[in-house]
Amino acid sequence: MSSMLLACASVVLSGISPAMAAAPMAHHAAPGYYRIMLGKFEITALSDGTFDMPVDKLLQGIKPAAINKMLAKHFESSPLQTSVNAFLVNTGTKLVLIDTGAGKFLGPTLGNVLKNLEASGYQPGQVDDVLITHMHMDHLGGLLADGRMTFPNATVWVNKKDADYWLSPANLASVGKTHKGAFKNAMAAVKPYKAAGHFKTFTGKKTLVPGIRSLPEPGHTPGHTGYLVTSEGKTMLVWGDIIHVQAVQFPDPSVTIAYDSNPAEARATRLKLLPGLARDKALIAGAHLAFPGLGHVRQARHGYVWVPVNYTVPR
Ligand SMILES: [Zn+2]
Repeated sequence: MSSMLLACASVVLSGISPAMAAAPMAHHAAPGYYRIMLGKFEITALSDGTFDMPVDKLLQGIKPAAINKMLAKHFESSPLQTSVNAFLVNTGTKLVLIDTGAGKFLGPTLGNVLKNLEASGYQPGQVDDVLITHMHMDHLGGLLADGRMTFPNATVWVNKKDADYWLSPANLASVGKTHKGAFKNAMAAVKPYKAAGHFKTFTGKKTLVPGIRSLPEPGHTPGHTGYLVTSEGKTMLVWGDIIHVQAVQFPDPSVTIAYDSNPAEARATRLKLLPGLARDKALIAGAHLAFPGLGHVRQARHGYVWVPVNYTVPR
């Protein structure tokens, strides 16, 4: 045995870790929030987590081979790990949460909005208003924590068309078994807020909080709504589910998804919205764009290109 090996052996025997020992992997990621300023408003993107979406089976109006080709161009494949994002807006006088993530409705890889809201420096009791883009589980599940209101002091706002659709006992009764869960969960999520008088609906374009206005974007659901957030001449559109799969639907915005209530209307809304957003160089916040889901859209020869925001630290 060489003297070198003897030295190593003596280190091990004396209980001191040799330098070449592998460190255990840490696994967990950084807290899932990202912050920017929009004029005088503070915007915090909150990650709810991600879920694996079998996009080659869900996207419609396009062949699976074409989907896979477009994903591959982005170094992605199906099932696609897909972000679920919510957005917290501090206007200086109101703390407003737009969407809440899935809560306990969609398994252990989601349901992190509350944890990340706290990590970002806020408490759920401080939230004044919760604006829901639409009543799918991945957007309103976070309203509940252990069956109670996660945001006990907040007013929850939903477009009346979505409330009428998802909270209708007649609709629940008329849909097939596989669709009943979506209705039941929507009803459960808003129940304690309704009981407390904290649930409100609106129609069309309305200023719900100073600096935040609703923008109807129907199709994905009947009352699917974006929220225009404006401060000091700067505007951000929190657009909900206008795009689910960025590698496919930006280059070809005519592609729809099985989750759409009315695919033709969802397509028309998307095709109508994108040119103006590109022309106005609007800041966009997307629920299913890769976290933090903030960026701009640029018109290209074929469709559009998504340009995520540069990393900055607010000052
Ligand atoms: Zn969604």
